Amino acid sequence: MSNPFSSLCIGVVGAGTMGAGIAQVAASAGHKVFLYDVTEGAAEQGVSRIQRGLEGLVKRGKIAETQLNDIIGDITPASNIEQLGSSGLVIEAIVENLSAKQKLFTDLEVICGEEVILATNTSSISITAIGSALKRPERLVGMHFFNPAPILKLVEVVSGLASSPEILDRVTELSRIWGKHPVRARSTPGFIVNRVARPFYAEALRVLEEGAASVAMIDAVLKECGGFRMGAFELMDLIGLDVNYAVTSSVFSAYYQDPRFLPSLLQKEYVDGGLLGRKTGRGFYDYDGCEVESTVMADTADQTMEDIVVEGSVGQAEPLIDLIADSGVRVRRQEGEGIIRVGNAVLALTDGRLATQRALECGHDNLVILDLALDYSTATRLAIAPSDQCAEDAVRTVEALLQGTGRAVSRIDDIPGMIVMRTVCMLANEAADAVHLGVCDVSDCDTAMCSGVNYPKGPLAWADVLGLANVVKVLDNLATVYGLNRYRVSPLLQRKGMLGATFHNGHVAD
Ligand code: NAD
Repeated sequence: MSNPFSSLCIGVVGAGTMGAGIAQVAASAGHKVFLYDVTEGAAEQGVSRIQRGLEGLVKRGKIAETQLNDIIGDITPASNIEQLGSSGLVIEAIVENLSAKQKLFTDLEVICGEEVILATNTSSISITAIGSALKRPERLVGMHFFNPAPILKLVEVVSGLASSPEILDRVTELSRIWGKHPVRARSTPGFIVNRVARPFYAEALRVLEEGAASVAMIDAVLKECGGFRMGAFELMDLIGLDVNYAVTSSVFSAYYQDPRFLPSLLQKEYVDGGLLGRKTGRGFYDYDGCEVESTVMADTADQTMEDIVVEGSVGQAEPLIDLIADSGVRVRRQEGEGIIRVGNAVLALTDGRLATQRALECGHDNLVILDLALDYSTATRLAIAPSDQCAEDAVRTVEALLQGTGRAVSRIDDIPGMIVMRTVCMLANEAADAVHLGVCDVSDCDTAMCSGVNYPKGPLAWADVLGLANVVKVLDNLATVYGLNRYRVSPLLQRKGMLGATFHNGHVAD
């Protein structure tokens, strides 16, 4: 995209991980950039890091040598902050500390002309609080890039109470011209992504704490069944358990100890033990011996394929019926409550109740529940949980049936909402609440989660597909089992669920 703002000079303060990345983004879009850092030599080192990264791209044929030279030629390490005075936009990426940021912006107010836009890349500090030190806080906005800034497309454009709507519009437009996916967020703890993503980690940790499945199995189910790019534990190991725990703790305390954001004691134990993930060689996985999921297929050689009877619709799991039929099993259909009968077993999609409770309520002792899949036709793994009263041969029959479709099957303990279903419903609940409280709109929320953390579907679009009343039912059942306020349903989700409405106005976004 040609850049009508390319004559705008960009100042970047802080030449660390984010500042260098942002300088590269701006220079790649054709801007002259001044990069300043308080530590002597840090700006030059930042430019060298950018150069090394670009040389790698040249080697892999991603960019031409001339592009590298143009980008590097456009970035000037500034020896003093006054050199940023000629900028049209100054983006701050210094240490995450309120008084340091306030001091910097009050200095910039003196150095820069009235028309210069000021932006902060803070991940967790209120834009309103930073702006409170300024004479003209209306020209300060949040411009929250994600790491690595040159690669990840998301930019949260964050408004403080005083931020000018016109400046927010200009920064949004500029981010789009830079090839980013800007979304608008009100300055609230965690903005969009760091708030809405909390349940992805929290629910996986809860499942692990309850001993319902191993680290490797939870990750395998999230990826191969839920369609997530990375498992929660792999991702925490990559981010660093200390960083991930600190974000959760800061969101938890910023929301006055809302139990929805309760940090995990198990995660704290890892942090206290210095098991911080990849950077220390050990976190949830051991990077010397690299623990990987060995797919334990049940021994099904002695199982004969049973016919199945599908009673009613099994909702989201309907595509599975075709796969079962394709595997050579005879399928009969009849009216009913949405279950699959196979041999002496009954299989049903989780609705958030314990399998044990549901078996008692439905009068099917041999009940096995099935976890949600992003897409049953393409999922390579399915997860099941038998009720406590289920006979072993009934579970084996279900395993044989599902393995017959070519899927790996993970058997987990009986926990409400299993793994994928509880994660998706909690993500949708948090996303709905962010919309309810005016943090962002529906479309920006889903864009943020797909672009910022690579979710396979926006949580609100996913909830639309599940049916909002079903999502509410799962969350209510989770709340009943645990007796915890953590699973309370957002009022907006409740209202839409009651009406059979959707978040995306009939249009379900991917
Ligand atoms: P970093 O430690 O890599 O770099 C910070 C740089 O700022 C250092 O080079 C330091 O010398 C410099 N600095 C400190 N005080 C300064 C001052 N007063 N004036 C000029 N330079 C100063 O940190 P980072 O990871 O790049 O994070 C920077 C900001 O971006 C923080 O606010 C952080 O919350 C935010 N952020 C970080 C990430 C991430 O994943 N690292 C992602 C999004 C946002």
